[in-house]
Amino acid sequence: MLPMARARTHGEVAETLRRAGCVAADDEARELADSADSAAALDAMVARRVAGEPLAWITGRTVFCGLELIVDPGVFVPRWQSEALARAASVLLPERGVAVDLCTGAGSIAAVLAARRPTAEVLATELDPVAVACAQRNGVHVAQGDLFAPLPARLRGRVDVLTAVAPYVPRIALHRLPRDVLAFEPSIALDGGEDGLDVVRRIVAESVDWLGAGGDVLLEVGSDQCDDVARLLERARYHAPSVIEDADGDPRGVRAQRV
Ligand code: GLN
Repeated sequence: MLPMARARTHGEVAETLRRAGCVAADDEARELADSADSAAALDAMVARRVAGEPLAWITGRTVFCGLELIVDPGVFVPRWQSEALARAASVLLPERGVAVDLCTGAGSIAAVLAARRPTAEVLATELDPVAVACAQRNGVHVAQGDLFAPLPARLRGRVDVLTAVAPYVPRIALHRLPRDVLAFEPSIALDGGEDGLDVVRRIVAESVDWLGAGGDVLLEVGSDQCDDVARLLERARYHAPSVIEDADGDPRGVRAQRV
């Protein structure tokens, strides 16, 4: 028999996490305690977190725009910095409109759109089968495949709102990501090729066939990529590009309208 693990106090867990470099140690300690069903389980969870695993993989959940979402281990964790894009997209989506979310990951943006516009049609696509299964568990209508490829042809020229949090980190900047992000989160969700815009360029080029006239595209990118993406959109069939800011006022992406 293994010895019974001694129940650690909240203060002890928080201190362990703080020493491991977690900035929100107090909140994280509470979340872990809420998810653990025994002292031994809590110990195992704390050890995983100390090793740098994302909190959402350990608790199996996160909250995005007030929605509780499942996040399976291996799936890019939805970031609060993407919430403004999700909210802006839901405001633009007509009640009976069509929305498509590419690179949906756990399905966070699609889930927000479906929750806020229950009468709209919201479809998502995703390349990674692990993420596809996770998005399905979040109730998202998701198809596995590359960008627009898995969408039904009937949606060509009919999409009102297109969103994507594609991988956009320039390859040379990958090493500057937080150590734990780099060590644990899937590089397929981060690595945007040489200048970071490989996938975004393909999305812009292919999107013109799918958006209806007046439809909106909202793409998350890094703050120093917004100008380039605005230009890409203008050179395609989009006008009036504008920057999407997160809750801190930092540029997080670009929105533009299909001519
Ligand atoms: N800077 C972003 C992050 O780690 C990159 C996400 C992405 O490429 N989609 O949150």
